[in-house]
Amino acid sequence: MEIDAYISLGSNIGDRELNLLRAVAEIGKLPESRVTALSSFYETSPVGNVEQDSFYNAVIRLTTRLEPRKLLMSLLTIESDTFKRTRTIHQGPRRMDLDILIYGNFKINEDDLIVPHPRLSERRFALQPLCEIAGDVVHPLIGKSMSELLANLKSDETVVKL
Ligand code: AMP
Repeated sequence: MEIDAYISLGSNIGDRELNLLRAVAEIGKLPESRVTALSSFYETSPVGNVEQDSFYNAVIRLTTRLEPRKLLMSLLTIESDTFKRTRTIHQGPRRMDLDILIYGNFKINEDDLIVPHPRLSERRFALQPLCEIAGDVVHPLIGKSMSELLANLKSDETVVKL
């Protein structure tokens, strides 16, 4: 069965725009999957207390037959192989961070995979690009559309469309 998954992409090391483009290209090569929508790119202020450069963020829709866990493993492989990501500081700088925001209307709550992404409804850097391509998609746990969640969001993050 084909499912529409929404994946967030974020980078704040190196050539951030090129990193996003490379990530889209790599995700597009995954088996049984097609990138069927891509948001604009946004420059966003970092969340948390770590002093670091601003991020570039985007969201894609991946229409896929990969199961959620297989998709997660594929994204982690892109982070580590293409972007040589090593895990150091929590919420620290990263060449590429890939998160599954939504996987159809699945609700998954396991140790290493939580879908919808637990902080989606609080994060403007994810919600704003997501709304561009999935404003009418309903959050499977909250029961509100992404546009409604964005309209109700109270956060002082700076998110600028590039
Ligand atoms: P981070 O990149 O620091 O946000 O954390 C990545 C880890 O979060 C991965 O190793 C995953 O096992 C875990 N994780 C849990 N839920 C998700 C999700 N929806 N998307 C991506 N990673 C997730």
